[in-house]
Amino acid sequence: MAYSIPSDQEVEDALRYVMRRVKGVNSLRKLRKLVIKELKNSDPQYTVGMDRLRKIAVTAPFIQTEIYAVQGKKKKDLKGKCPVCGNRLEKTRNETLFGGSVTLGYKCKECPYWTTLKRRIPIRYNFEHKAEEKKDEDSEPERDND
Ligand SMILES: [Zn+2]
Repeated sequence: MAYSIPSDQEVEDALRYVMRRVKGVNSLRKLRKLVIKELKNSDPQYTVGMDRLRKIAVTAPFIQTEIYAVQGKKKKDLKGKCPVCGNRLEKTRNETLFGGSVTLGYKCKECPYWTTLKRRIPIRYNFEHKAEEKKDEDSEPERDND
């Protein structure tokens, strides 16, 4: 079977529609199923991969993501990149008694992922719909802002 690849905007639109309807989804796999079903309304050949959908979902302004993670066994270099969304990680520091600071771990600037120096490995996600900040608070249907 042939597949077509939807644009980020199309995935986001499908995601927004799904989240408005279901309010919350407790797994990425389930979310993907719902989003694909929605995408297929526009094009029966549309699909979206887990990694791509995860990156779009965790940074979407209308989704509150909870990341469940387990502690990795050893220190691992994250190379400054978030394992969830691929964006840049920021060091989290603590000031020491001696006026310096030590790195405690990292947190993502774009999504809720954080980790100590022993890497937290994401294992599960929970997605909740949240209201988007809108410029005017009327009941007009939303338009694409492009
Ligand atoms: Zn991230």
